[in-house]
Amino acid sequence: ASCLVGSEMCIRDRVRDTAGREQEVKFAVAVIATGAEELSPAGYFSYGEFPNVITQSELEAKLEGDFKAKHVVMVQCAGSRNKERPYCSRVCCITAVKNALRIKKMDPSATVHVLYREMRTYGAWEELYSRARAAGVRFIAYSDTRLPWIGEKEVRVYDEITGFDLEIDADLIVLSAPLVAPATNRQIAPMFKVPLDSNGFFLEVHIKLRPVDFATEGVFLCGTAQAPKLVDESIAQAAAAASRACTILSRKSLESSAVISKVNAELCVGCGACEAVCPYGAISLKEVWIEKQGISYKVRKSGVNPALCKGCGACAMSCPTGALDQQHFRNDQLLAQVKDVFTYSEEVR
Ligand code: SF4
Ligand code: SF4
Repeated sequence: ASCLVGSEMCIRDRVRDTAGREQEVKFAVAVIATGAEELSPAGYFSYGEFPNVITQSELEAKLEGDFKAKHVVMVQCAGSRNKERPYCSRVCCITAVKNALRIKKMDPSATVHVLYREMRTYGAWEELYSRARAAGVRFIAYSDTRLPWIGEKEVRVYDEITGFDLEIDADLIVLSAPLVAPATNRQIAPMFKVPLDSNGFFLEVHIKLRPVDFATEGVFLCGTAQAPKLVDESIAQAAAAASRACTILSRKSLESSAVISKVNAELCVGCGACEAVCPYGAISLKEVWIEKQGISYKVRKSGVNPALCKGCGACAMSCPTGALDQQHFRNDQLLAQVKDVFTYSEEVR
């Protein structure tokens, strides 16, 4: 989060640091970059049943240390592109090919088989795939209707291209598990009033026209918080989010729309109905002191942040005391117009 200290447009929120201390932060812009995490593929392809069935990130840790395997079988889409997670995790095919090449480089006599549903080494990464084939990595297509069978020292698979049933020796089986959205996204999304997609990732306002924006002003996103993607793609998107943030932070003042809501503090009873319905997080309740007949009271009053308000009118509709009005579309103005329409109709008749 970034802060325009002292600005009327600032948003306040409370955060808890790693030591458990809570503090209030003021910010004008927030970039959601919560990332994603590798699925633990328990229940898929004997993961957790045999110690030699591991994930790609566990393989990468081994490659940095004591890697000894002679026969490696990699299984793609281990937990993705199924009913539970229908999306392609995008990074796994490239990661598998990269790791297969590392194994071949360390030990050219090692065998590496990659069992795939479709190899998705998109764009320039196709070159990596060609290099892996040239280095002797074998690619075998399987179907989601005939999944590979994983034993402790052997893998059986039906090769979709040749039509043969294959038995492959394996002393290490590596599952390409997908990136999944962190569970905390479901807590963060309502805090910023931003949406999630059906897979739990943050959903931008428009994939082509506003790829790092949310409908809520001043909140942007980047990286795998949005969907699985490679590091270079995340960096490019982070640069885009930073540029969008600068379009706000570089200004001394912000111009708000003329059609925004305004609270009549006299009528507001602090019920919070407007805060709950505002889809853009533009309303917050504040505690204020008022004095009546010489006695001071602490009460809650609603306040609209003009930089965030989109003038949708939902708050004015929900307010039980009529304390909220949209400028230029006040309740009395609208009612006068409706009354005029009926009067005119009567006269014409
Ligand atoms: S709904 Fe109306 S009364 Fe309730 S907090 Fe909002 S402005 Fe105040
Ligand atoms: S008009 Fe819409 S955007 Fe503005 S404060 Fe009311 S509910 Fe929120």
